[in-house]
Amino acid sequence: MANRKLIAGNWKMNGSLAALAEIDAIGAAAAANPAVDVAICPPFTLIAPAAGRGVAIGSQDCHAAAKGAHTGCVSATLLIEAGATYAIVGHSERRQDQHETDAEVRAKAEAAITGGLIAIVCVGETEAERDAGNAVSVVEGQLTGSVPPAGTAATLVVAYEPVWAIGTGRTPSVADVADMHAAIRAKLVALLGAEGPGVRILYGGSMNPKNAAELLAVPDVDGGLVGGASLTAAQFVPIIEAGA
Ligand code: PGA
Repeated sequence: MANRKLIAGNWKMNGSLAALAEIDAIGAAAAANPAVDVAICPPFTLIAPAAGRGVAIGSQDCHAAAKGAHTGCVSATLLIEAGATYAIVGHSERRQDQHETDAEVRAKAEAAITGGLIAIVCVGETEAERDAGNAVSVVEGQLTGSVPPAGTAATLVVAYEPVWAIGTGRTPSVADVADMHAAIRAKLVALLGAEGPGVRILYGGSMNPKNAAELLAVPDVDGGLVGGASLTAAQFVPIIEAGA
């Protein structure tokens, strides 16, 4: 049976209090499309004001520790208190900019899940890795290193985001997406056993209203992680509808 789809928006370091009107419109679309789960992951400062507007809210990171001397960091407990139910961990921008390793990503995912959040663990190859024919092996290695062994269908989501497709307007072919998602599914079953089939696998990287229906129809694509096209309801709502 197909998994229930999740359409999640990653606002990155974008948005503002004024943009909460977009959250209201996205919340209305979420209510009108109850067959799909919808989430928006805004910057930390917008989590509390964005919560309670009809759409699930997530963070873009989660510290591996529950509390303590970690200046500038935010724990799962604090995120939940602010109104979050999801946490993206291991986004390629953080793997690159903050030098996050697979082990750190796994520790963050574990902390998110232990704290009560649903962890969205991101993986994806660079263009050089794909050109060298190593895309699947790179992603399998990232999964082995960053998927928490205690992850379940209810607490873990994986997002496949080819680095070269993020913010570029380029996407892999449908055949390449199908191959990669099948490989990720097989790896999740190997790592998590009976929980593997139910862990949702999102596609991310230049998903937009034009290509969403085609990408979301690929087997084992259980939703999308959407960056640029999640910033306005005008762009994001058609993607929600494509997943419904
Ligand atoms: P994009 O970003 O949709 O703007 O390509 C996706 C992401 O990085 O999550």
